[in-house]
Amino acid sequence: MSFSVAIDGPAASGKSTIAKELANGMGLVHIDTGAMYRAITYLCLKRGIDCQNIPQVNALLPEINIELTLDEKVFINGEDVTTAIRSSEVSDNVSYIAAIKEVRLFLVDLQREMTKNLSIVMDGRDIGTYVLPQAEIKIFMIASVEKRAMRRYLENQKMGRTGNYEEILSNLKKRDYIDSHRDFAPLKPAEDSIILDTSDLSIPEVVTACKKIISNKLGKEIV
Ligand code: C5P
Repeated sequence: MSFSVAIDGPAASGKSTIAKELANGMGLVHIDTGAMYRAITYLCLKRGIDCQNIPQVNALLPEINIELTLDEKVFINGEDVTTAIRSSEVSDNVSYIAAIKEVRLFLVDLQREMTKNLSIVMDGRDIGTYVLPQAEIKIFMIASVEKRAMRRYLENQKMGRTGNYEEILSNLKKRDYIDSHRDFAPLKPAEDSIILDTSDLSIPEVVTACKKIISNKLGKEIV
């Protein structure tokens, strides 16, 4: 039997890290939908396209081919952009790209296609509400914006990426606002989602909490 775990929440709430851990531990496929919006943003920036120019962004869609590999690499039109999509320039522009309805419809088709006959953990903003409303398990992760900014700052430092705390904080606030106020498939918890506040939890504690939620929903203990 295949099943889907949808993890949504605001920027840097820990969704991808936790989704990856859960997928590894439970033998599921992880799909990071944020990476897909980031990849399109990267391509627009590379081509010199203004990310708020809707007709120009949409004109690019027919030539876009995105691949996510099982080892968490991201390719757009054959180019490995796994690292490049995490730049502050991409983070600064991605919410404009994600607010474009045609971009969302294009990616949602791809995301649904990727889940066929597979048990998956998919993380994003609209997975429980729009992409996979039938998902058996829906978790909505929250954490204070200051905690999220500090986590992202420490993660960036570890990975040798640039960006100071204040810049990260203001980027997260901006993205939260745009993501939750857009007209089409905005960031919000699905009515049947379980809200998990990760502000004061470590990564292993969040993983344990998620496993408990999944076990309860599936009616069987998972390791
Ligand atoms: O998850 P991550 O922070 O990498 O996502 C980057 C951006 O992509 C988000 O700020 C949001 O604008 C957009 N996004 C979205 N819907 C998703 C996943 C990401 O709008 N399902």
